[in-house]
Amino acid sequence: MAVTEPAPVVLPAAHEGILRRQTLRESAARTYARSLPIVPVRARGLTIEGADGRRYLDCLSGAGTLALGHNHPVVLEAIKKAIDSGAPLHVLDLATPVKDAFTTELFATLPAGLADNARVQFCGPAGTDAVEAAFKLVRTATGRSGLLAFTGAYHGMTSGALDASGGATDVRVTRLPFPQNYRCPFGVGGERGAELGARWTETLLDDPKSGVPAPAGMILEPVQGEGGVIPAPDDWLRRMRDITTTRSIPLIADEVQTGVGRTGAFWAVEHSGIVPDVMVLSKAIGGSLPLAVIVYRSELDAWEPGAHAGTFRGNQLAMAAGAATLAHVRENGLAERAATLGARMLGQLQGLAADHPCIGDVRGKGLMIGVELVDPDAPAAPDGSAPPVAPDLAAAVQQECLRRGLIVELGGRHSGVVRLLPPLTLTDEQAAAVLDRLADALTAAERSAHRRTPPGLPC
Ligand code: PMP
Repeated sequence: MAVTEPAPVVLPAAHEGILRRQTLRESAARTYARSLPIVPVRARGLTIEGADGRRYLDCLSGAGTLALGHNHPVVLEAIKKAIDSGAPLHVLDLATPVKDAFTTELFATLPAGLADNARVQFCGPAGTDAVEAAFKLVRTATGRSGLLAFTGAYHGMTSGALDASGGATDVRVTRLPFPQNYRCPFGVGGERGAELGARWTETLLDDPKSGVPAPAGMILEPVQGEGGVIPAPDDWLRRMRDITTTRSIPLIADEVQTGVGRTGAFWAVEHSGIVPDVMVLSKAIGGSLPLAVIVYRSELDAWEPGAHAGTFRGNQLAMAAGAATLAHVRENGLAERAATLGARMLGQLQGLAADHPCIGDVRGKGLMIGVELVDPDAPAAPDGSAPPVAPDLAAAVQQECLRRGLIVELGGRHSGVVRLLPPLTLTDEQAAAVLDRLADALTAAERSAHRRTPPGLPC
């Protein structure tokens, strides 16, 4: 594999000016813009072209939104058709042919056990709003207020969604251990670790002195994304389904990031065969435009009219683009393609770990892939647990990727996981180019980490 020396990033005036003005005008809370100082001006498929004339392979895909990549012809065609038809672009939650077609296409893809008897609520345009709607729905339906959520979870930035996310401490949310192999909270990993987590969940729910009131619902991600690309084992998901069914607790699957073929099944819950009571959907369902819904068992529909309102629930262009995306993924077997290509990429990355001791773990499902970077020189833990995560190295790898024209995301508890979320349309050649650039970036980042480390000290 060719090791390219990092090319100096040239910043022409326009590009530099835009970045400078962004830094001056936008809030300190800006995120991606900090680690990815690029100014996209054109994009197609996997490729983004910056104002500096450089081209990048985009494996961030709008945080997993672009199932078909940038400006896919099918999506553009659907948007143009909606515009040319003279249909209104925004109509609150009124019925329209575009919305009718979107809902029909969405229901055609849902797990059968849910589609037969489902209701859909169009929410405000972000995933986080759909999460809020899901919580409100199960609280209304059950008359209870507490929620069960998992360590490492990410559900959004509005108050309720944030409370259910891993970093929060809301008293109404009971935090349960999410199973993970590499950093198993019980120190055993695998099936045994997942089973211990499930038993902890059961004990909390059944012990009258656990201090956990009967909850309104349980929310989980079938594969934790922001938490560091951690797939939940299928058996554990089935256990969560059993535990919640037996205790009449609605199960909410947050498929905002895992949906629309991303994990190698149309919806990630299909891997385990579970049918949730509520599914939270956003990102790819809008075919690159903002759209969010919840779909749920109709028995839960105890809402009064207006219980979850919002002005922007009728974005016709997003529905047109979304319907076209859902249909294209379904008709072209792109979930299956994600499964095959994702498995191959995982295997190749695992192979790479042999040459890069800083790769602690490679994991994922379909085209949702994570590489956890660790400090290989840290003294081995007496209990055999994983070495410390290496966030600085991960940040350096991200920068080296960018220098080589590859956009990757960081995630995980300490931002030590390099994440790949390429479009499902990724070709074999593009996949090879992505992995080549990532391998070169790893080599370069390791080399400069060693140059910075005085002899005898861990890097
Ligand atoms: N749930 C999950 C699983 C997510 O990954 C995200 C966003 N990364 C959200 C909810 C929130 O979506 P949004 O940023 O559109 O509010």
